[in-house]
Parts: sequence; structure tokens; C-alpha cells
Amino acid sequence: MRGSTTYLLGLFTVIAGLHIGRLEAGQASATGQRGRGSQEPGPTITVAGRTFTQASLFQRNIGGPDDQTTPFPPHKVIGNIYYVGTKSLAAFLVVTPQGNILINSTYERNVPTIQKSIEQLGFKFSDTKILLGSHAHGDHQEGDAMVKQLTGAQVIVMAEDVPALRAMKPGGKEHPIDKIIHDADSVTLGGTTLVAHLTPGHTRGCTTWTMRVPEGGKSYDVVIIGSFGTNPGFKLVNNPDAPQIADEFRRTFKVARSLHCDVPLGSHPGMYNLEEKFAKLGKGSNPFIDPAGYKLEVDIDEAMFNAVLAEQQKALSGGD
Ligand SMILES: [Zn+2]
Repeated sequence: MRGSTTYLLGLFTVIAGLHIGRLEAGQASATGQRGRGSQEPGPTITVAGRTFTQASLFQRNIGGPDDQTTPFPPHKVIGNIYYVGTKSLAAFLVVTPQGNILINSTYERNVPTIQKSIEQLGFKFSDTKILLGSHAHGDHQEGDAMVKQLTGAQVIVMAEDVPALRAMKPGGKEHPIDKIIHDADSVTLGGTTLVAHLTPGHTRGCTTWTMRVPEGGKSYDVVIIGSFGTNPGFKLVNNPDAPQIADEFRRTFKVARSLHCDVPLGSHPGMYNLEEKFAKLGKGSNPFIDPAGYKLEVDIDEAMFNAVLAEQQKALSGGD
């Protein structure tokens, strides 16, 4: 029935499956979110002419095999925000006169890469005073212990992610937690304030950070998306470890739509089309100012959540 697309789908599924197996399997089982086989492409959505399967949207975020560890050219995003991550794992440095805030350590093996990117921009890694994270998955926060070790930064985490973070122990190292915050709490350093918005679903304590930055005599609302993504393998129905997961996702989309956003950023560069925007840097207005791009990303993620939920509900009620 699927005819000529079967081969391509199959090939893609194998590639995506390899990544999912390597990256998310441990995380998914830890939160009991293993539902349908993660080797399948999952439901398809089309939003504003863009078509994704559940697997291809996940793949868009994590990129190819080397993208997670290959540094992306470090650059100024806007105001005092700089990009210091890899091709598919975002890390942001917020620079202040009283030291810097790092958002996302990513994988532990990437920490030296992040350090190098920070130094390339002319800043000191040792000036990192605060470490924040997007959510308790290894590709965003596995390196926290190493960053803490190297910089002495204060590690601030969202309360609902504490159990998952405590379980994240690269090389047996305890996950550092210096301060636990809650929804709507803020973090201030050197005149810059970031506000933590609890956007659960992807993880229980998934956090979307907002801040206001000045540039060119104006000020802009920046939203760093924690993740609104429904990964392959997530169990949205009858999940014993997260019974409210579907409600949490619904609440998250409400919160996401309530945030005013001029500059969308995210824990994966694919969430805000970094590559495309980076190519336009320095050629006119700041390409990272993209309110429509934020709305589109929320629309895509919400459509996928609804499609996956509908599929899982149908399967449960005996449909195929
Ligand atoms: Zn994740």
C-alpha cells in the first residue's frame, strides 16, 4: 500500500532507530515512557506545508551521527547571549559583568568543546558562575558534574527534574544540585534575569527559560525552548511513571502560547533553524528575531503531540 516509499521509510527508520536506541533508551526507560516500538516512523503531521513523522521530527532535533559532538561556530545571538554548543545540541552563554551563566552542559564529552567555544569568543570558562539546564536528558545535562568540577558554577535545577537528574551519573559522579527552583522562579546575575517556566511533558521538570535583552536601542523577548517534543517511545496513555503526562503536555502548550517571543531559541538548534539563520548573520537585521518561527515550532510540536496521543488512544481502544 505504501509502495515506493516503503524502502525509504525503512531505511530512515533504521537510522533513526539507531540514534533513539543510543540516546534516549536509558532516559525513556527511567521515566517509564517506553510505549510503541521506537523503530517505527510514527504518525505524520503537516503544518504550514512542512511534513514530519514522529521519527523525522526527533531526527531533525538530534541531527546526524556526528552532529551532537561537532562544534557549531560559536557566535553572538543577540544582546548578551552567545551560542557555544554543537551542531545539534545547543548551549548558550549569557555574559554579565558579574560572571556568566551557561545553559546546558550537553553530554559530558562535549564539555571541552563548549569550553573551547567560550574561549574562542574571548570569554573565560572559569567565569561561569551559574549552570542551568533545559531538561533532565543526558544530551542536555550529562556534563553538569564536569562543568561544576571545572568552574565551580552553582548548579540550579527545576524541582520536578531532580529525581531524573539524581539518576544521571556519568562515570559514577553524583549529579551536582546546588539550588532547587520552581515554576516562575527567576535567576539573576550581573543585571540579567532569566525566568524559569515549567513546561513539563518531555520530562517532568522540563524548563523553558525567558529573558529580555537589549540590542540596537530596543529590547527583545527571548524564549529558550526546553522541549515541547513527543519523542518516539514516549507513552502518553496509561503511563504508570507519569500518569498525568498528557495533561502536562497540554498545559505546556498553553504556557508556550502565553509567552511573548521575539527571539526563539531551543535546546536543539533544529527547533529554531540555526543553520539557516546563521548563514544570514551580519547581512541585515538580526535573523534570530523571528516571532513567527516560534509560533510555527509550537504549532508543529502540538500537532505531533495530538497525533501521537490519538494514535495511542486508538490502539488502546482496540483500533489498529
Ligand atoms: Zn530530551
